[in-house]
Parts: sequence; C-alpha cells; structure tokens
Amino acid sequence: NLSLLEQHSDFEWHIPATGKMRVPGIIYAERGLLEDMDNKVYEQVCHVAALPGIVSASFAMPDAHWGYGFPIGGVAAFDPEAGGVVSAGGVGFDISCGVRTLHTGLVRAQVDAVKARLADTLFARIPAGVGSTGPVHLSATKIDDMLAGGAKWAVDQGYGTQADLERIEERGMAHHAKPAAVSPQAKKRQRDEMGTLGSGNHYLEVQEVDEIYAPSIAEGLGLQRGQIVVSIHCGSRGLGHQIGTEFLREMVVEAKHYGIDLPDRELACAPIQSELGQRYLGAMRAAINCALANRQILTHLAREAFSKVLPQACLTLLYDVSHNTCKVEHHLVDGKTKRLFVHRKGATRAFGPGHPDLPDSIRDLGQPVLIGGSMGTSSYVLVGSNEGADERAFGSACHGAGRNMSRTHAAARWRGRAIVEELASRGILIRSPSDRGVAEEAPGAYKDVQAVVDAAQAAGLARKVVRLVPVVCIKG
Ligand code: 5GP
Ligand code: MN
Ligand code: MN
Repeated sequence: NLSLLEQHSDFEWHIPATGKMRVPGIIYAERGLLEDMDNKVYEQVCHVAALPGIVSASFAMPDAHWGYGFPIGGVAAFDPEAGGVVSAGGVGFDISCGVRTLHTGLVRAQVDAVKARLADTLFARIPAGVGSTGPVHLSATKIDDMLAGGAKWAVDQGYGTQADLERIEERGMAHHAKPAAVSPQAKKRQRDEMGTLGSGNHYLEVQEVDEIYAPSIAEGLGLQRGQIVVSIHCGSRGLGHQIGTEFLREMVVEAKHYGIDLPDRELACAPIQSELGQRYLGAMRAAINCALANRQILTHLAREAFSKVLPQACLTLLYDVSHNTCKVEHHLVDGKTKRLFVHRKGATRAFGPGHPDLPDSIRDLGQPVLIGGSMGTSSYVLVGSNEGADERAFGSACHGAGRNMSRTHAAARWRGRAIVEELASRGILIRSPSDRGVAEEAPGAYKDVQAVVDAAQAAGLARKVVRLVPVVCIKG
C-alpha cells in the first residue's frame, strides 16, 4: 500500500487526488507506523476526500486506525460556501470524548505512602463501568440546562470553581447548542449517567511527571519532574452515542435527497446549511456540553476522594480538550481566511502559541495537547506549534497511541486479572469493575505511543512537553 503514497518527508505522505477525490489525502506518520497502519485507513482517508466541500486535504494523524466511516485520527474541514457537509461519522459516537489533566500539588512520595488507599477511595467514588450511575440525577428541564451550559452549568451547580472554566476549551461551554434537537431517548439515557466514566477505554489516572522535554514550556504550564497529576478521559456517555446513532441513520436516508453521492454509507452527512445539518450541529454541541459537564462533575468527585486520603492535595486544571468534535474555526486556505467546519475524530485540536482562543495565562505557550498512551505505558502532554509557518491539518494532532488490535482480539489474547497483577508488580494499581474491559485495553493492544508522539512532533503538528507514567488507574 505504500506504493500509493507520495513521500513528502519522513513524516508526511500524500495520496494524490484521483477518481472521486476532491482533495489529496495526507497521512502524518513515520514509515514504521505507516506500515503497521490498517489498510482501511487509506481507503477511509480517500473516501473522506470525496465528500462535498472538503478543503485542503483529508488528513490522518500518526495514531490513525480504522473507524466508522472516518478513520479514528481523521481530520477534515468543510466550507459551507462551497456546499460543505457535516457528518455524524466524522465526529464519532462518543461526541466530545476528551481528556482533562489536573495538577495536584503532590509529589510521588506522598502518593506512594497511601497508594492502595487512594486507589480504593477513587474507585469507590468514581462511577465506572457499563450501566453505572452517577451522583447527579436530572429531570427533563435540568437536562436542558446542562445541555445548554456544559461545565459552566456544572460549576453553577457547585461542582468546581470559576477558575476551572478558564482552562477548558471554549471556557467550558459550547455556544449554539440546541437541547431541543436532542431526542427524548438520548436525554433519557443520560438522566442518571452524569459524573460517570463509562467503560473500557475511559479512565481516571493518577500519573507522575517523569520526563521533561521542553523545560520552559513545562515551567509555564506548572509541570515539574516528580509531580503528580490526574487525567480524566471520558465523553458524553449514552447521550452522545444515542445522538450519533440517530443522526447517522437520518443522514443515510436524507443524503440522496440532498443530491450527495456517498462514497460509503458510513460517511452519511448533510449539507451544513440544510435543516438536518443545522439540527445535527445543535444536538452535537449539546452533547459537547454534556461531556464537558461530565468531566467537571468527575473532577469534583476526584477532589472529594483526594481530600479523604491526601487532604493537602489541591486539584487545579491544567487543561481540558476534546478529541471528537466538529467546530467552526477560521483558517487560512490558499491565502484567504475561511470560516470552516473542522471535524476532528480521535484527533486533538492543537493551536499554536498566541492563538486568540487560548486562555490568557498560557496563550504564549501554545495549547496543551493531552495524549493518553495506555494504563501500562506512558502518556504525554504536548503543545500546539506554529512550526513551519503553515498550520498543519488545521491545527490538529494525535489523540492517543491508537489501537493496533481490535477489542475482540485483545480479549482473546489477554486475561484482565493477569494484566492487573503484572502491572501491580510494576507499582501500577488498576481498579476496574470489568476483567474483560481490562483485557480489551491491554497495553499491548495499542501502538507505541512514543513513536506516535515523536511522529506528531517531527511532522510539526505539536511539540512534546512532558511524559507521564501511570501510578493508579481507575478503568471503566
Ligand atoms: P479513544 O478516545 O480512542 O478511546 O482513546 C484515546 C487513547 O487513550 C487511546 O488511543 C489510548 O492510547 C489511550 N488509553 C486507553 N486506555 C488508557 C489508559 O488506561 N490509560 C492511559 N493513560 N491511556 C489510555
Ligand atoms: Mn470515548
Ligand atoms: Mn476518547
């Protein structure tokens, strides 16, 4: 398959536009990652490149793997003035899934002294696993307030502080959310699920900063070697999934009425300007608010758990960024600034230093890009870069290591209990309600995260700041 690709650098490969492709495909990865990449990724990148109104290129990040319609690790932007579309499959089912990292003010030795108790206390406080319910139960009107207000709503309800909001993408609230565009079924699914992690790949992890790559940026972000941070990875739970499912179905049916020739049914989409497109955007933004509120409530629960075991801890936000979204952004295309609808699916926004949308306190450093690895390897904090003058992939980077094996394969290959024991022998404590879930998420089921972030850096997508290693992981 490498024969289809034109090599532009060691880290950038192009698929020239042929057939129905309107723009080329661009994959950022080094040769090793590329050779291991699922063949489906190439095909999906090409299919996305054929969608109406796509601008510049159809991109894949170094952690890309096969997904529903769009690859996970895919980025594509559409121009509403050129018949551009919005696609439910281009956002993904777990709308606004993302990562939030918190400082704790603690160092490793303080956590090591009480590690098992901390793990147990977090596990008791953080609802994890399929069907778990949270501390908040919402009536129909309260749900609409949450869907309109996001993390801001959660703070108003007493979960966290105003200072938290400053460090969340869009200051904790997506504008132009339309709770009325969210079905009763989706709302019903979310009634008791606020403040829950969900299953499998979602986690709350206590991590140690164990390596610094960019000392001045790390210092600016308040990160030092030996410090403890907490990362929370989860999304919009049942609500987001229900919205994704319903709109995909509707978009498949409606596409032909809008005269869209779908290269693949899974790429179901609607014109941005259409009634359906606008309704999806309103519902999707409501789901973004649901995810932001969810991570905010989980932060509150983590603060409660820490206060019981390590009362000196002070959990403050480093940053919160989503990796399954469609956002309206302005980007330079062929020398002209355009208003675009940027889809990032399993890809993190990575704005460079000075971007007006970044919080004042860290604007000069660039936007933190929070990358999970696995419960047994490293995770990373990067920042967006303005390297190479032209912005890469509309200011986007990878979102994780990316799977190299399906969940089914992983579950057949590993036993959850054995993994928990092996990690415990290395000082990493896992707490999970599901043995199978742990097996599906075995560190070996993911790509080499170091290779992925090195490729992201070398391709000029983002810059490495620190490495994090797991200490305690609460898995869904
Ligand atoms: P996704 O959003 O695609 O489900 O997952 C994002 C990334 O999180 C994955 O690509 C993987 O690298 C990472 N990840 C999955 N499980 C864990 C975990 O338990 N701990 C950490 N640190 N990262 C994880
Ligand atoms: Mn998710
Ligand atoms: Mn995710």
